[in-house]
Amino acid sequence: MAAVAESATPVLIVGGGPVGLAVAVELGWRGVPCLLIEQGDGTIADAKMFATGIRTVEFCRRWGFAEKVKDWGFPRDFPFDNVFVTTLIGHELGRIRLPTLAETRPPACSPEQHAHCPQFVFDPLLAEAARGFPCVTLRYRCRLESFREERDGVVADLHDLATDRHEPVRARYLVACDGFASTVRKTLGFEMSGRPVINRSANIMFRTANLAAIHDKGNAGRYVLIGAQGPWASLVPADGLTRWRLMVHGRADWDADSLDPREAVRRAAGRDFDFDILNVGNWTRRRMVADRYGRGRVFLAGDAVHVMPPNGGLGMNTGVGDAVDLGWKLAALHQGWGGQHLLDSYEAERRSVGVRACDEAVRNLERFSIKADYSHVIEDSAEGAATRAEIGRRLATVNRMAWDNPLNTHLGYRYDDSPICVPDGTPPPEPEDARVYTQTSHPGCRAPHAWLADGRSTLDLFGRNFTLLRFGRNAPDAAPLEAAAAARRMKLDVVMLDEPAIAELYERKLVLVRPDGHVAWRGDALPADALGLVDRVRGARAARVPN
Ligand SMILES: Cc1cc2nc3c(=O)[nH]c(=O)nc-3n(C[C@H](O)[C@H](O)[C@H](O)COP(=O)(O)OP(=O)(O)OC[C@H]3O[C@@H](n4cnc5c(N)ncnc54)[C@H](O)[C@@H]3O)c2cc1C
Repeated sequence: MAAVAESATPVLIVGGGPVGLAVAVELGWRGVPCLLIEQGDGTIADAKMFATGIRTVEFCRRWGFAEKVKDWGFPRDFPFDNVFVTTLIGHELGRIRLPTLAETRPPACSPEQHAHCPQFVFDPLLAEAARGFPCVTLRYRCRLESFREERDGVVADLHDLATDRHEPVRARYLVACDGFASTVRKTLGFEMSGRPVINRSANIMFRTANLAAIHDKGNAGRYVLIGAQGPWASLVPADGLTRWRLMVHGRADWDADSLDPREAVRRAAGRDFDFDILNVGNWTRRRMVADRYGRGRVFLAGDAVHVMPPNGGLGMNTGVGDAVDLGWKLAALHQGWGGQHLLDSYEAERRSVGVRACDEAVRNLERFSIKADYSHVIEDSAEGAATRAEIGRRLATVNRMAWDNPLNTHLGYRYDDSPICVPDGTPPPEPEDARVYTQTSHPGCRAPHAWLADGRSTLDLFGRNFTLLRFGRNAPDAAPLEAAAAARRMKLDVVMLDEPAIAELYERKLVLVRPDGHVAWRGDALPADALGLVDRVRGARAARVPN
């Protein structure tokens, strides 16, 4: 086994799943050199993820490829209804009607909309975007074997699996996006707490020429298969043409290897038909969050720190949010204007978001498998019909929270405990319905979207730097804050908006928005200590500034 000379990179990203790739894109977009290593070759056999949430699509808009995520070839007239059935040719219990791509419009609170973009499309789009930045290097078939922390960085032992050579790489920061089994998390000794096994499942990818031709339920975004023991599987379209995924649920003690995949597909259809099995993958449904998200110069993101039931499609979307939060902070440190406490805010902000997503995913799982007496559900009898009507109505009602555009779940997370956001003493909105999202400039929240007169979204104003929005021609002078930012080499864009409806939406005359689009501070006048405010939001000090 040969060794090669040590090389160096500002940021080493371990893991080329969607979250590692998102970190690479975010850093590349900010011009920060980084090296991403992935032990696999980039092939995705099991399309785990389909539901690309609205916030993720907003990030893709900033990165420049939202259109590709929304419109990659999935048929635009394919309905996304959730249909509850005994089999495809059997009884229909209930239905949540959801629009086709052609019918879907962005909600009033966003310039974007959620997308159906499976991982076998989404990951390559991220990789393509990352490769487009000259400062980003992606290396496949390269594994992190170990690392050691030093005072000013990390030295990693990389194993090139193609050549079988080991290479030491020195990095100022290590970002571990190495999934649930994370080597890095284990090396750091961080525990995951929660429920290690909720149940076991199998994903069966199969291909058939025209599934809709063998049944009478019409195309749908999800068929939930219900038997005498309750919901046992769900069937979703992968490409809207020939590829489908059947997800079979077992109990916690189920041996998924005992599953006959062909028999399961036939059982779901209720009849035999021509199809080819493309892949079978077993996985465990968990709900776990790491106790720590980082230490020193090593940070973790994505499934390495939170795993949750896929119900509602929140896992990857939460990980992409981690990537964006970490990305601008690493860039600030790399560019020299980030303060010594800035990276501490990563765990303070993102861990509670991971817990929130896990809790919502578990609620979605409970919605999927509501407690009821299913024993008559497949019977052709009056009792069977009554059972189906009752269960169908309940399933359709509660599952709207998971799949009918739950905007508050995706957009309503906020950074209440952040040391770098400045609270103003007002309570944030607390909607009880996952689908109700109230835009607000409350510190720590996502800054609101509104269309500008020139056709851009307010969200298009944010990203590269901090942005101070001044509302109205008579808005307070921003010069003291500009001077303070310049003194700290923190780039600040000042934007005057003379649009009364947007001023009302933003609630204050001055709103300071971070590079990730979250509100750092708001007020009707600048604080007397503008330098203190700048130092707070760039993570140079933990002290509070007066609002
Ligand atoms: C059935 C199912 C459906 C899902 N559907 C959705 C959905 O619709 N929406 C959603 O948001 N989420 C969904 N999820 C969750 C989503 O798939 C995960 O949250 C997401 O894949 C996590 O991405 P990641 O990059 O953090 O980790 P992973 O995807 O696990 O990637 C980690 C990568 O790190 C690499 N790696 C590990 N160790 C090393 C090492 N030492 N050196 C180099 N490389 C290494 C691995 O090879 C792997 O490629 C679903 C999950 C499942 C199981």
